[in-house]
Amino acid sequence: MTRSTTIDCITPDVLSSGSGGEERSAAELASGEGLVTPGDRRPATASMEGHLSDVPTPDLYRELLRRMGEDPDRDGLARTPERMERSTAFLTQGYAQTVEQVLHGALFDVDYDEMVIVKDVEFYSQCEHHLLPFFGKAHIAYVPQGKVVGLSKLPRLVDVFARRLQVQERLTRQIADAITDAIHPQGVAVILEAQHLCMMMRGVEKQHSHTTTSAMLGVFKTQLQTRTEFLSLIRRG
Ligand SMILES: [Zn+2]
Repeated sequence: MTRSTTIDCITPDVLSSGSGGEERSAAELASGEGLVTPGDRRPATASMEGHLSDVPTPDLYRELLRRMGEDPDRDGLARTPERMERSTAFLTQGYAQTVEQVLHGALFDVDYDEMVIVKDVEFYSQCEHHLLPFFGKAHIAYVPQGKVVGLSKLPRLVDVFARRLQVQERLTRQIADAITDAIHPQGVAVILEAQHLCMMMRGVEKQHSHTTTSAMLGVFKTQLQTRTEFLSLIRRG
């Protein structure tokens, strides 16, 4: 299954309802049997009768709201499905972006081989297991080898990968690999410090725990001194 669009991502898990949805007969589907519809309200669309991929996205969200036990037609929720569609499109816009687009025209030849470091890049992402946010700061460093990236482009590079469904480890590695591919530096280091709402709001409820991940490539991996310099620079206030 491809993950090319938002709806592809959420449809199989959330809408199959765990009751063998595809095996239900047309008659059962037509009667709405097995659907939790508070207020005895039938779905506004024929969503269960056809292919879900043909159903407009706001109608899918309306159905999700019903299954939460809500009345999607009450005033406060009347335009929520459309807002959810726009909001989700924004939060996952990284799928439609490439590193090449973001860095286009922002790679410069230099005669400079000292460490370049950008600290405290805010990022907001969503965990791919619960579709809940995780967010925090990225610290990025590299030692150039003839080329540098325009500094303002690094936060945008982070967003290309953060605005997708992610796990923190992969996000960290993708940022490091993208910089490596773009400018072939002597080394790249990326550290992400994040808080995960799926840990804070549910499950273990560790309200103040931070998760730290790192990717150390090239000289950051092979030279202790370079790695130590990076770590001391990001810890300095
Ligand atoms: Zn999660």
